[in-house]
Amino acid sequence: MSVLVFIEADNGVIKKSSLEAVTYGSKVGDVVAVAMGSIDASELASVGKYGASKVLHCSDERLNDGVISATAKLIAEAVNQSGADLVVMSRSSLVDAVAARVAIKVGASVVANVQDLPDTSNGFVVKRGVFTGKAFANVSIPEGKKVLTVSKNVVPLEETGSDAVVEELSVAFADSDFGVKRISVHKQDGDILLPEADRVVSAGRGMKGPENWQMIEDLASTLGAATACSKPVSDMDWRPHHEHVGQTGIKVAPQLYIAVGISGAIQHLAGVNSSKVIVAINKDPEAPFFKAADYGVVGDAFEVVPKLIEAIKNN
Ligand code: FAD
Repeated sequence: MSVLVFIEADNGVIKKSSLEAVTYGSKVGDVVAVAMGSIDASELASVGKYGASKVLHCSDERLNDGVISATAKLIAEAVNQSGADLVVMSRSSLVDAVAARVAIKVGASVVANVQDLPDTSNGFVVKRGVFTGKAFANVSIPEGKKVLTVSKNVVPLEETGSDAVVEELSVAFADSDFGVKRISVHKQDGDILLPEADRVVSAGRGMKGPENWQMIEDLASTLGAATACSKPVSDMDWRPHHEHVGQTGIKVAPQLYIAVGISGAIQHLAGVNSSKVIVAINKDPEAPFFKAADYGVVGDAFEVVPKLIEAIKNN
């Protein structure tokens, strides 16, 4: 099967989630990648290590802004040029917006929020998350081109190959493809972007007030983690809104998610239940988070968190 993988970059650095998508694609067929905007050639070629033989790159700088209609046009053009049967994209706000547009342009079926490699033993069946991650559905795409948006952490990164060949892809964009423009970007504080973080330390109303967040930040910096919070915490302005995770906030899928003083309401879990390992710290043994957690500590956060920081520092 011929696979096209869409690559996204942040400030010229290819996102880990996009490299995971290349590994995913390489387990299904022969991968060509497509990338856009200002990314240097050596960075693009490095995608080959994860299984892509070629990268089609449209260097038009207007694409740095992640413009939805132009991105969809670029990916559709790359599908036509590469002859791909399957398009794989790691989920992001841009991918969630372009996937259906690409599918319409190339006449493909689209399945979003894919959670596993396809089963090709009898047709093409993929598992997708439904009901905000509370259940899975197995979806069959019997024939034709396919577009999949894949969740983070579905496959671990695997270095298998060497540098890919990089080719310029020119696309005849119309001005109307850039009709919607990003006019400003507000970067969050800190080096680790929450949606991309491998480790997240998150806290809820159990912290009692914003003045108690220093220990959460200390635990996060000890672990090299991003900080996050529950919705009421950001609603009360204890923490900035970009830290709010859940059904109505950011969806995260880190290797490690530590929840401190968060009850584990279904709307919170909807944004974190793709995390690899979940640790809940809560003084209430009946807190629903313990049902979703891999590890649980029943105890007062104000005692447990300082001890945890000390234990990590001593190891
Ligand atoms: P609480 O429910 O007040 O829980 C606090 C927890 O801290 C309790 O379990 C308590 O036992 C524990 N605790 C207290 N003191 C300590 C201590 N000293 N040490 C340890 N533990 C302690 N919520 C989200 O988070 N994200 C969303 O995206 C989201 N979307 C929503 C969408 C809708 C439509 C609705 C209706 C709700 C949404 N919510 C969302 C809100 C959600 O239902 C919960 O109300 C919210 O997640 C609860 O936040 P919390 O766990 O921080 O607070």
